[in-house]
Amino acid sequence: MNDKKRFDLHTHTTCSDGSMRPKDLILHAKENLLSGISITDHDTIESYKEIEQLAKELQIDLISGVEFSSHYNDVSIHILAYAFSLDNKEMLSFCSKHLLRRKERNLMILEKLKKNNIYIEEQDLFINAESAPICVGRPHIASAMVKKGYVSNINEAFNRYIGEDCPCYFSGPRFSVEETLEVIKNSGGIAVIAHPHLIHNAKVEEALINLPFDGIEVYYARFNEVQNNRWLKVAKKKDLLITGGSDFHGVAKPHISLGIASAPLESFNFLKEHYEDQNNSRKT
Ligand code: AMP
Ligand code: ZN
Ligand code: FE
Ligand code: FE
Repeated sequence: MNDKKRFDLHTHTTCSDGSMRPKDLILHAKENLLSGISITDHDTIESYKEIEQLAKELQIDLISGVEFSSHYNDVSIHILAYAFSLDNKEMLSFCSKHLLRRKERNLMILEKLKKNNIYIEEQDLFINAESAPICVGRPHIASAMVKKGYVSNINEAFNRYIGEDCPCYFSGPRFSVEETLEVIKNSGGIAVIAHPHLIHNAKVEEALINLPFDGIEVYYARFNEVQNNRWLKVAKKKDLLITGGSDFHGVAKPHISLGIASAPLESFNFLKEHYEDQNNSRKT
């Protein structure tokens, strides 16, 4: 029975660039018969405020999570942090730093769009006031561009204007992999390399697996068994925690369904225990 349990450890909500509200995501997890979940919004852990009670009632195990964007040399690396206490000050302050960086960066991108005769205001990025995102990123800018008729779809917005190497792209200040790792460790969290399949740079891959990560996201929805197995071997060789998740974003990425990738039971249990320890040490 146990080996049939599924745990999706990579999901996004309307707190960042997902389309489902946190509570609806938990209900959806129940419908999809998931046993455990982590919400890993970009740069925010706000979703947990409204779902802890519901998850308990529906008997869905929750593990705290968040996804940070970082850079190794010039390569973009996403890092998942898990199982830290939700009121850890260092984690909350790191989220705030990222959110501030995004605010300044978004304004710069909007400035650049203006120079290309595309007029989007900051408030246009909060498309749905009832579920205004905490973390606003390029997907929100792209949606506003579609809504205002400047492009016909999100892809076009990225391909012509705001994708890397496009005229309105702006990176803004960056966070290194090393400093991100340090914050996660200091916060009592577990640091996992997100979707390593997307790195496509052998030197960077090699460097990353020699940094003090705790785990690798081996099972990722967009890749097949052969591609995932490559990372399974790496994780085993380096004795790293094997995690997995779908990177669910709801209708924002309709081809990815919740629970399509899962972490192994042992990994989930390890994270759950770690999370309980962090919560207990918070209370004492
Ligand atoms: P940001 O974090 O603001 O730099 O935005 C990056 C996010 O934009 C990624 O997590 C992707 O989900 C999304 N994204 C990047 N390129 C594209 C694209 N071509 N089409 C749609 N979404 C994209
Ligand atoms: Zn996202
Ligand atoms: Fe990511
Ligand atoms: Fe993600």
